[in-house]
Amino acid sequence: MTSHTTVHTRTLAELSAGLAAGDYTSVELTKACLSRIEQHDGEINSFITVTADNALAAAKVADDRRAAGSAGPLTGIPLAHKDIFCTQGVKTSCGSKMLDNFVAPYDATVVSRLQEAGMVTLGKTNLDEFAMGSTNESSFFGAVRNPWNTACVPGGSSGGSAAALAAGFAPAATGTDTGGSIRQPASFCGVTGIKPTYGRVSRWGMIAYASSLDQGGVFAKTAEDCGMLLQAISGFDEKDSTSADEAVPDFNGGLNSDLKGKKIGVPTEFFGEGLDAEVKALIETALKQYEAMGCELVEVSLPHMHLSVPAYYVVAPAEASSNLSRFDGVRYGHRCDNPEDLADLYLRSRAEGFGDEVKRRIMIGAYALSAGYYDAYYLKAQRIRRLIRDDFTKAFESVDAIAGPVAPTTAFKLGAMKGDPVQMYLSDVYTLALNLAGLPGMSVPAGFADGMPVGLQLIGKHFDEAGLLNLAHQYQQKTDWHSKMPAAFA
Ligand code: GLN
Repeated sequence: MTSHTTVHTRTLAELSAGLAAGDYTSVELTKACLSRIEQHDGEINSFITVTADNALAAAKVADDRRAAGSAGPLTGIPLAHKDIFCTQGVKTSCGSKMLDNFVAPYDATVVSRLQEAGMVTLGKTNLDEFAMGSTNESSFFGAVRNPWNTACVPGGSSGGSAAALAAGFAPAATGTDTGGSIRQPASFCGVTGIKPTYGRVSRWGMIAYASSLDQGGVFAKTAEDCGMLLQAISGFDEKDSTSADEAVPDFNGGLNSDLKGKKIGVPTEFFGEGLDAEVKALIETALKQYEAMGCELVEVSLPHMHLSVPAYYVVAPAEASSNLSRFDGVRYGHRCDNPEDLADLYLRSRAEGFGDEVKRRIMIGAYALSAGYYDAYYLKAQRIRRLIRDDFTKAFESVDAIAGPVAPTTAFKLGAMKGDPVQMYLSDVYTLALNLAGLPGMSVPAGFADGMPVGLQLIGKHFDEAGLLNLAHQYQQKTDWHSKMPAAFA
């Protein structure tokens, strides 16, 4: 009999089996998670809101559902949601003072689908304000610390979700990825994360940052677990006009397919200047592992990769400046005290409600979209975006997937990027291109450099999440980086 107190070391697949076998109840699992959060999250700050009462009530419902014989594979398993997903009746802050008082009147599709599967929501995780950042330091609710070294950042923007998983507070968490916000924190925290193809997962109820790039996804310990979660959240949603009306395959059906003969593209552009030597060595070792599993490594080129940072940092702020115009102090969110008139209400509410990074991006975006500069910046960035997408299309003519590092370094120290936004933007150099092209990508734990985790990035063709999960799962059968936990939280 397995003790529910070791919940934090178990995968979803194991918890699912344990619940089915009656080794523990959902209420026991949920209590175990809540007590770990209570004991240890003071050090990490991964949660903005913990919904203990709701969680215990949902766990009870899940146990009743199991007793009635109608439990599914995820029923009764606790998880945490990035605080960018609307949750009915629960504060949904997006990491901002602007929404500190916002209680969502409805659930995001991702949230309601996981609830229908019987999962138990533990609470809402911390993030960079409006998902803008790579360190989690821009959150109004304070920085999140990396469980592997609390002097370091967990990555961003979904840093709270990745850190909560790494610290064993929850066996699964949701995230969103506009330019790397699932993959980079997964890499920095040593967990597995998947950003699906744009359109695979509904954006309904996911607070918009840059709508043409934003995509919801998940974090878990293993690729298999990610597949289980993805199965529940994927698929067309009439409430999101950009959600893809594309058949949802059995994501985990091919996990054990042999990799023999699979071609993995290795882009030269991913291994150039700026890549830390130790990170590079670990990625090369991971690639050799794929060779040992029968894959063929093929050199490919993505000649416009180097333009992804400038293109992204025009497109994303442009869309953000438009999306964030809804926060005006009138309909919801922060409102300044005693406005003199309407203009004063708008100006002061926004000046008080948004943090520096968000303001910086609104200004850049508004500038790029202004009549005089639209052609020079926004239009040009959109053209580059097309070239980047074409690079991938061409590369995928000769390979099944592409692999490389997620980030050029391991997690940096808190404060290391303060005052240098451009340096922070450069940390997204390997992740942004996928969002610009709409492709699916994963981060898979691939070792440690100086005690900090390093993620291998796997990139698939549009809608080939199943192929990516197969690649990641096979790697995780041969390595055990994904099952390591930081000593302080083991
Ligand atoms: N770090 C990138 C940014 O700040 C990506 C963030 C994200 O994916 N949400 O825009």
